[in-house]
Amino acid sequence: MNSQDYIQIEEKYGAHNYHPLDVVIERGEGVWVYDVDGNKYLDCLSAYSALNQGHVHPEILNALVEQAKKVTLTSRAFRNEQLPLMYKELSEMTGYEMSIPMNSGAEAVETAVKLVRKWAYQTKKIPYYQAEIIVAEGNFHGRTISIVSFSTEEYYKKEFGPFTPGFKTVPYGDIEALRQAITPNTAAFMVEPIQGEGGVIIPPTGYLKTAAAICKENNVLFVADEIQTGLGRTGKLFASDYENVRPDIVIIGKALSGGFYPVSAVLADTPIMGLFQPGEHGSTFGGNPLGAAVARAALKVIRDENLVEKSAELGDYFIERLMEIPSKHVKEVRGRGLLIGVELLPSAKGARRFCEKLKSMGILAKETHDNVIRFAPPLIITKEVIDWSIPIIQETLMME
Ligand SMILES: *Cc1c(COP(=O)(O)O)cnc(C)c1O
Repeated sequence: MNSQDYIQIEEKYGAHNYHPLDVVIERGEGVWVYDVDGNKYLDCLSAYSALNQGHVHPEILNALVEQAKKVTLTSRAFRNEQLPLMYKELSEMTGYEMSIPMNSGAEAVETAVKLVRKWAYQTKKIPYYQAEIIVAEGNFHGRTISIVSFSTEEYYKKEFGPFTPGFKTVPYGDIEALRQAITPNTAAFMVEPIQGEGGVIIPPTGYLKTAAAICKENNVLFVADEIQTGLGRTGKLFASDYENVRPDIVIIGKALSGGFYPVSAVLADTPIMGLFQPGEHGSTFGGNPLGAAVARAALKVIRDENLVEKSAELGDYFIERLMEIPSKHVKEVRGRGLLIGVELLPSAKGARRFCEKLKSMGILAKETHDNVIRFAPPLIITKEVIDWSIPIIQETLMME
């Protein structure tokens, strides 16, 4: 079977909830993927930053296989010997006292929302069911009903109501709007330090720091969704580190498993995370020994291979080289570390056709928000590979 055969089957039998580039991948290794027709591509999406460690990293693969031979699922009705070590290593790496394991990113966001509300009633003493959470316009926090309830994207939520109440939106990057939105019933401000899905939107310098300070003044929790920006993607362990902000709650996922298996987590200190009581929250697969073993290996690779520093260095280099491309279509090149967005002018007529062209020349990148091409390769990419990619990207951006 060739690519077209697989695509036909997929279109016939699968729900059409994505609009993928027509490349059928059968193998990945490091920064490269191979399709069923034998073509090789540089992966510049990294599964939305889940593959910071690269495809099929041998150490993570080994952890997966070895753990799979021993025990894969205990449920949290019993304990297992991997989860405690994941907790401890996550704490040592991030500085947060406790964590709670989940699977998908959206689940971890839901978990954070529950935790924030619990804190609102138990600790802040907000009257029952009056707690409000402030979020930013243009956010992306996942796809559950509650999460799309506070999305501002029409097509994420249209025809999926009724929606979950208790959320307020303010413009991203607007400190005064945040200040004015806070009421005595505000429990938290939840924000992405950089909006990845929103188009690699970087807020004004000082925004996160001031927002965190305003939250502190008002006894409001500052919650950072670092599912995409965290674990080295932006050149720091967390993107919040750029402004020396230590959020009260951090949500991680994606690269926490190096792309092998869905693992997510919420991090906080004991006064907050300690509020969950037995039975109040859980997940059959959350914290399972296979996922915990994979996450431990994925974190170890980030540490051992200095992926945070690599991301910072190579990100700067990649951005510089992209900025040199004299294309009439480019409005702006922006990014932090290896989370890079190339925003095109309206006259470019959309990013999709450029992504199609890149694909035909061996680079996989995906448009986000119609007019932004995101370049987010695995953090193990080398300068040599970036140098290989630049002429291809240049030729693409120079087309009519
Ligand atoms: C991907 C993402 C999510 C959702 O994660 P899933 O694993 O797809 O549920 C939430 N927040 C941000 C910032 C993300 O990038």
